Amino acid sequence: SIEVKNIDMAYGAVQVLHDVSLKVEPGSVTCLIGPSGSGKSTLLRCLNRLVECRAGDILLDGESTYKQTPDQLRRRVGMVFQQFNLFPDRSALANITLALRKVKGMSRQEAERAALARLHEVGLLERKDHRPANLSGGQQQRVAIARALALEPEIMLFDEVTSALDPELVKGVLNLMADLGRGGMTMVVVTHEMNFARKVANQVVFMDEGRIVEAGRPEDLFDNPQSPRLRRFLSEVL
Ligand code: ATP
Ligand code: MG
Repeated sequence: SIEVKNIDMAYGAVQVLHDVSLKVEPGSVTCLIGPSGSGKSTLLRCLNRLVECRAGDILLDGESTYKQTPDQLRRRVGMVFQQFNLFPDRSALANITLALRKVKGMSRQEAERAALARLHEVGLLERKDHRPANLSGGQQQRVAIARALALEPEIMLFDEVTSALDPELVKGVLNLMADLGRGGMTMVVVTHEMNFARKVANQVVFMDEGRIVEAGRPEDLFDNPQSPRLRRFLSEVL
């Protein structure tokens, strides 16, 4: 589980997270929603220490993540971004084997076996030798997800991973994420895809101005929003 306890975060003098607390149960999917600038990406970055909080604590399985180095933590918490961050001059397969050899110290053979299994899982085995430029955006994103999964994280963070994709490619990536969630992966997903949140999330968290305004089951948040701010947000995006 992840437990976020009363974190504050500031970029310089500007505080962007205010007393944020959140619990993510093992094997559950949490979707973070909210307007642009509300602090969703910042919260996600706090979870794997791409940025540091100013106050509060984040526990992983009951232990403070601040007892680990950021590198140790990132082996346990995988992250996928809107921009896929693949090496452009390497094949899909090499993008994954390089990560496995560097992070897990695997031999070439071991890494290849593991990478092929992951490419199979995301439906891209036959594209293994393609470079990113010769893959669609959706396929590139699936390679990025396969690479993160290959490192066998306990938790996966997704930051608007479908936002840069052409509309017809979005569904394949969302289906893959839904499958992962059903398979028991613990996931925290920042998304503008409200249908995905409604169908896949166990918990939906609505943020505004650096605060969690409302959190709960998707049916409660979407069908019976309590705060005026969430009602207004939903009326704008649905
Ligand atoms: P979006 O939906 O547009 O991605 P978000 O909810 O992910 O928005 P954040 O990126 O977390 O929002 O930003 C929260 C606040 O922090 C915003 O006011 C933003 O301008 C500010 N901010 C984000 N990154 C930085 C940075 N590197 N330096 C300074 N301020 C930042
Ligand atoms: Mg963001």
